[in-house]
Amino acid sequence: MKEHDIRPKHIFDEYLRLTTEDTRSYFQDSVRHDVGCPACGANGVHAFTKMGFSYAECPDCSTLYVSPRPERSAFERYYTDSPSTHYWATTFYKETEAARREKIWKPKAELISEKLSHFSAFDEIVDVGGGYGTFAEEINRISGCKVTIVEPSRHLAEICRNKGFVVIEKFLEDVSPCDLGHKTRCFVSFELFEHLYDPAAFLRCLNRLMRVGDAFIFSTLNGMGADIRVLWEHSQAVSPPHHLNFFNSHSVRKLLATCGFGVIEVTTPGRLDVNIIENSLQHVTDRFWQTFITHSSENAKQQLQEFLAAHLLSSHMMVICKKDSESYNL
Ligand SMILES: [Zn+2]
Repeated sequence: MKEHDIRPKHIFDEYLRLTTEDTRSYFQDSVRHDVGCPACGANGVHAFTKMGFSYAECPDCSTLYVSPRPERSAFERYYTDSPSTHYWATTFYKETEAARREKIWKPKAELISEKLSHFSAFDEIVDVGGGYGTFAEEINRISGCKVTIVEPSRHLAEICRNKGFVVIEKFLEDVSPCDLGHKTRCFVSFELFEHLYDPAAFLRCLNRLMRVGDAFIFSTLNGMGADIRVLWEHSQAVSPPHHLNFFNSHSVRKLLATCGFGVIEVTTPGRLDVNIIENSLQHVTDRFWQTFITHSSENAKQQLQEFLAAHLLSSHMMVICKKDSESYNL
């Protein structure tokens, strides 16, 4: 898989142009507050500013995150009615859905299905932020498992309902245990965690909905991933106002422990780091990477990508955890 398969350049460039305009319209005048590291609470050190958003890096656990952070209401307005959000939900998604289904969601469903086979049987998968329901379709097709989707957007919730899924049209924070019934469940959430205004609050809400034995599998960006570290502020993954938190394999464990979760596995099954660095070579200042990308064979690039993925150094991270039996009263 190549980066441009899932992010065609001309469509992605237009999306980035609209986003740049929106960051001014929706956030320029917002009040901002310093926030501590979302993983461990330490005071961050300024790393860089991008599109008017300041990013800090935690000196203790290397989490990269937006601070000072605009108020939550500015993000709510942005996600409700901005032109770039509309473009993402319509043009971008429509144009890329077929490719994303093949390149992202089918392999992801196969991977999750394989992971689930190691657990005792689940009655239900709950997809938090299920979007267009593409993952739900694929995992249902492979595993036969019933899927319930939590999706607050009316537009997306309707699309999922039309695909035959049960949809809870709410933010996770508003879901009650009664909405979910009494089943053994595996909660999943993909590419949502980096967007969250308050990841700890999200995890505590989720923990209250879970019963001991339930699992939570999620994917997010790894701030220690190769392309993010090499490209830093030039990384397209560092994309305010969307991506606010870049945890890593160490810091995400700290956060989960404090929110009542026991980690089963953290992996970085990403396949794009080297290709992304190659596509942004004009921003690469490190001599090793410049010469490696310019002079190495495709086989060497592939091998390095596999090494990065195997050693928690790819920027796409997947976490499997369960509700800790001691966490009833968090
Ligand atoms: Zn930290």
